Amino acid sequence: MADVDLTREGIGMTSQRTRNRLVEQLRKLGIENETVLSVISRTPRHLFLEPAISHQAYDDKSLPIGYGQTISRPYTVARMTELVLGRRSFLGKVLEIGTGCGYQSAVLSPFAGELYSVERIEPLHKRASQQLTELGYKNIEFTLSDGSWGWEDKGPFDGILAAASPEKIPQSLIEQLADGGRLILPVGGEKQVLTLVTRDGDDFHTEVVEEALFVPFLPGIQR
Ligand code: SAH
Repeated sequence: MADVDLTREGIGMTSQRTRNRLVEQLRKLGIENETVLSVISRTPRHLFLEPAISHQAYDDKSLPIGYGQTISRPYTVARMTELVLGRRSFLGKVLEIGTGCGYQSAVLSPFAGELYSVERIEPLHKRASQQLTELGYKNIEFTLSDGSWGWEDKGPFDGILAAASPEKIPQSLIEQLADGGRLILPVGGEKQVLTLVTRDGDDFHTEVVEEALFVPFLPGIQR
């Protein structure tokens, strides 16, 4: 695990007991990777939310983060982290599309040598990069960009995770997958499915995991 300080304790509704209850819920929903569950229990989700709603941080639900975007449900974050890892416990290079408030980045960080996170909305990109730097996450690099293009200079990636749903999988993401790499993302418009693409040499295998509900994957940058 990378050297990340996850020790900041919460108070009141954000206590360890509240976090443990969330972990129990995730376990019942089928999350099996104990290391992922332990990282979820140590990650201060309340610090990624506006104070007015931070008391709901350890409920298993998505919440608004401004600019029409949402922080993903803890179940979704845990499931995607588990799926991008597969049988591996650590990934060299990981690409995340849709930094949002940075919560998924915080959960991915300890499983990655280097994490590259792309966001298209400038204020979200700025706030998340500042917040994660202040919290001591050192292995994450952020960029303001349209994730349709991936991040070619930094690839290939052992894992790619997108938190917004494109109508079809962007070709660049498939091309930037390292051999043995795994790409997890929602695909579709009104009806979405969480999709896993795995690369084995020149073979790419696509598998539908479950139904999903994410914000749309949009083109261009918003300042
Ligand atoms: N994992 C985030 C989820 C944020 S919601 C969190 O924990 O908060 C998904 C994010 O994807 C939004 O912030 C949205 O602006 C971003 N997004 C949508 N399309 C994108 C694209 N083409 N490139 C980069 N980011 C995109």
